[in-house]
Amino acid sequence: MLTNASVPTFLTTFRTLAMGLAIALIFASPGFGQDTVQAVDPRIAVALKEISPARIQADIEKLVSFGTRSTLSAQDPASIAAGHGIGAARAWIKSQFERDSKDCGGCLEVKTDAFIQAPAERIPQPTEIINVYAVMKGTDPEAAKRIVLVTGHYDSRVTDILDSKSLAPGANDDGSGTAVSLECARVLSKLKFHSTIIFLTVAGEEQGLNGSRHFAQMAKEQGWNIVAALNNDIVGGDKGVGQDPGVVRVFSEGVPVTADDKQLKQIRSLGGESDSPSRELARYIAEVAAAYDPGVAPLLVFRPDRYLRGGDHLAFNEQGYTAVRFTEYREDFNHQHQTLRSENGVEYGDLAKFVDFDYVARVARLNALTLAALASAPASPANVRVVTSNLDNDSTLKWGPSGDASDYEVIWRATSSPVWEHAQNVGNVTTTTLKLSKDNVIFAVRAVDREGHRSLPAVPLPER
Ligand SMILES: [Zn+2]
Repeated sequence: MLTNASVPTFLTTFRTLAMGLAIALIFASPGFGQDTVQAVDPRIAVALKEISPARIQADIEKLVSFGTRSTLSAQDPASIAAGHGIGAARAWIKSQFERDSKDCGGCLEVKTDAFIQAPAERIPQPTEIINVYAVMKGTDPEAAKRIVLVTGHYDSRVTDILDSKSLAPGANDDGSGTAVSLECARVLSKLKFHSTIIFLTVAGEEQGLNGSRHFAQMAKEQGWNIVAALNNDIVGGDKGVGQDPGVVRVFSEGVPVTADDKQLKQIRSLGGESDSPSRELARYIAEVAAAYDPGVAPLLVFRPDRYLRGGDHLAFNEQGYTAVRFTEYREDFNHQHQTLRSENGVEYGDLAKFVDFDYVARVARLNALTLAALASAPASPANVRVVTSNLDNDSTLKWGPSGDASDYEVIWRATSSPVWEHAQNVGNVTTTTLKLSKDNVIFAVRAVDREGHRSLPAVPLPER
């Protein structure tokens, strides 16, 4: 089916399947994905109602007010005081996180990751780049070592990537993603989670992912266990082109960019091309969206990013982290990366008036519920194996215990299915045998806690 499909049909298929999943859950009728339902945590459902389109609008308009947020623009004290340039934008973002922290009794640690970027193709001279982030430490010492992260880039650009002076409003790209990080911080900082959440905004994206590369490398060097990174870039729901305001694309890599030769051989022999951790995160997002209904349906796009484009999630993927990208369904390229002007009746530029703030709020809800679900979930089962010592038609799976799990679920799907189709609770055990052939399906195991939070699934490797 998929191999013969044209690209648009391929994408439409996933959208149809995602909607089918939602419909199947609503009516609890036999059908696609009905067994893989995620539980709704009432505490998370209530928090989602706090996401505010008005606050998101105010944030985006504030970001636009700095004139330009080019990474090469002013960041001297006088410009910061005058509210102009990237330095002023950064100071304002930091003040927002600090205010949230004050409101929650100091629950956020507001930090910066600053470095001097050496000259590169899009950076003519040594330039200070500063990422701003807020850490909400998990309440459980063990679970707090797991980190879920949301990010957007606060830098902007015009047609000439080296132009640091012209107005570069960057309302959609990526004021919208920055606003998602800020709004998630405001709303989720009212709750407590056993795992750690990081609300990140980076600079240097337009110059070459410089900020996110530095951050992801720092995280790797310091041994941070980032289990999921959600990158929001161009989630403004641009009103200028036949937008579908009910859909947001979720891009995920298939074969991990970090796979070595041995792993590539294994992926090839097992048919594991669509089971990278980032792909599992994309499926998880579709499942929790179906359970909570944030008002926007994720369209899973099984490729790292759009043609000719990249984004900050790739910097996390490069360090071996699980990361996906959210982007509006249809982009208006006249409203991105363009110097403000009118030509032949066409208005160019990334202005706030093209952004649909209700759409950004729906995407923020989807991000917040994904962060909250993952930060409440047990750790994924470790060292998951499928026993292949004998030729047989059953399947025996084994795994290591997850500390905070009460139960485990085996989930599976047809090898040709894009998303998980079935789940079976196998109890509080670390091995089970199913009357299903491992040759015919793809298995994974996920941990479940007493409240029904599911971990990200772990796909087994063969054990002889
Ligand atoms: Zn961008």
